[in-house]
Amino acid sequence: MEKDDFVTKIKEFLPYNSVINIKKLKKSIISIEKRLFSTLININPVFLKSDLNVIYDIIYFIKNSDKKDKKLKETKDRLANFYQKHQPTRQIRLNHSFKHRNISLFFDNIIKNIEKTYKNVDFSRLVLTWGRNTKNRTRSMRFGSFSRTKNLVRIHPFLDNLKVPDFFVYSVLYHEIAHFIHYELYPRTSSYHNKEFYDILKNIDPDFHRSLKWEKENKSLFFQ
Ligand SMILES: [Zn+2]
Repeated sequence: MEKDDFVTKIKEFLPYNSVINIKKLKKSIISIEKRLFSTLININPVFLKSDLNVIYDIIYFIKNSDKKDKKLKETKDRLANFYQKHQPTRQIRLNHSFKHRNISLFFDNIIKNIEKTYKNVDFSRLVLTWGRNTKNRTRSMRFGSFSRTKNLVRIHPFLDNLKVPDFFVYSVLYHEIAHFIHYELYPRTSSYHNKEFYDILKNIDPDFHRSLKWEKENKSLFFQ
């Protein structure tokens, strides 16, 4: 749908003082900001592909975002699903320059390997990026994270360090990608580090045990 048509269609159902922007959002798929004289609504460009049903969901969501009922939750779930399904193809966004490693090559190697095993999973929606270079030395360090709504794998810039062996970097990537596969295969799961998850991880990561061992033995590296 053309952007203008989309905006017009949605505005039809909203109060006259609603302002609609189509833009990429970092933290949500649709955001609603109530201002003094207007309501600012930002919608991800992915929703330009909406059909009428999705448009109704968007409108319902905007109008009822303060409620906490079952219907709103179901609407949100459908919108999140739509967003996941229509994300652009696999992207590698490296917002930190890396010195030693071509991480996008690592990522591609992994995807090529596991695509054969999990033929029904669409890996094109996965996004990879370096995370922020936060130093949290008081708690245990997280090397990677996975965002389910954005299909986004973030890895810690610390891994761009030659003291960290390649197999360990691969294992961090495998771990986060295993979360993606796990959610694809068990969409209703409520627990993320459960048996099904570890079955997938052990199935895809040939260095699972080796990496665990390496991490234990090299704790001092991370907390210098
Ligand atoms: Zn995890």
